[in-house]
Amino acid sequence: MSIDYQSLAVKGVQALSPYQPGKPIDELARELGLKPENIIKLASNENPLGPSPKALAAVKGALDELCRYPDGNGFDLKQALSARYGVMPAQITLGNGSNDVLEVITRCFADASSEVVFSQYAFAVYPLVTQAIGAKGVSVPARDYGHDLDAMVEAITDRTALVFVANPNNPTGTVHGAEAIESFLARIPSRVVVVLDEAYCEYLQGEGYVDGLLLLKRYPNLIVTRTFSKAWGLASLRAGYSVSSPEIANVLNRVRQPFNVDSLALVAATAVLSDEDYLRRSCEVNAAGMKQLESAFNEMGLQYIPSAGNFIAVDVGDQAADINQSLLEQGVIVRPIGGYGLPRHLRVSVGLPEENARFIEALAHALNASSGRGE
Ligand SMILES: *Cc1c(COP(=O)(O)O)cnc(C)c1O
Repeated sequence: MSIDYQSLAVKGVQALSPYQPGKPIDELARELGLKPENIIKLASNENPLGPSPKALAAVKGALDELCRYPDGNGFDLKQALSARYGVMPAQITLGNGSNDVLEVITRCFADASSEVVFSQYAFAVYPLVTQAIGAKGVSVPARDYGHDLDAMVEAITDRTALVFVANPNNPTGTVHGAEAIESFLARIPSRVVVVLDEAYCEYLQGEGYVDGLLLLKRYPNLIVTRTFSKAWGLASLRAGYSVSSPEIANVLNRVRQPFNVDSLALVAATAVLSDEDYLRRSCEVNAAGMKQLESAFNEMGLQYIPSAGNFIAVDVGDQAADINQSLLEQGVIVRPIGGYGLPRHLRVSVGLPEENARFIEALAHALNASSGRGE
């Protein structure tokens, strides 16, 4: 008798569709017979500068110890984070990317009887981890593509265990200022755990922007998550962390895998935190590239969602799938976000000036070809 193993998976998992990552360069090269060196990838919000030289040197220096387990407590990295951000090491939980931390948080605080609140168009991992544990996801309709914080407060019920807020949000790039976030937190019952996902916080400039870490003292139910994947340029190594009360960190520590951050990630993340020059250049290149993309979209008469991150979602019209295909054929990988309920938009990560220019040129070509076909 043959068994349908899919039907044996727990209910939440049966209905799950896997996270769709940006297409890797080598995969597109294989599919279309292109040379990898002729392809640019602006699809996963990676840092276009390449890794920091300090991080590279640290990784090379750690290679001889690959036979050993990493420091499961991440002592040096927690010390470095603690010194930089003025938090205690006991408040920090390290993860295999902040994705890992988001999942651990969900498993610690929610179960099949819980509701988890997040925004429409918010980061895909929130509904994914919620569904995987069989909890009920409550997606709150967005306002102007961003989190409707008032409606999210309204969505809290007795069953709500967890609320996710991405600030800035991916894939829309929308952001709330300090006042809005504070007033939101003040209205959330303290038995509900709030995750403030600050994956792009390093790119934020100017006053009014929130630093979630400053809110931890007043809101003990708050967990701030951050990552080394974006502005710090270490996406491949998988290092992220949360900062919370020590009590919450203790809970997370029970569930996380004991060696969830490998030794290369630990040394690279520790080293890059002292590379102030790298972070400054990351932000400068991003700000300039964002201007370059915005003015091109303006010239082309395309609407976009103003973004506080290192990516921007642009409305390319009804034929977004064709436009995307044309971009791929021209060796340019961006991210379609129909899966997020934004079928007219493509999300493009800010690249180096020449990469942005190549994307703009390819997009103009794709739009021309598509309008030609429509006639
Ligand atoms: C990229 C991203 C993350 C985390 O990525 P990791 O590489 O797992 O650290 C988390 N949240 C948002 C909103 C992101 O865009």
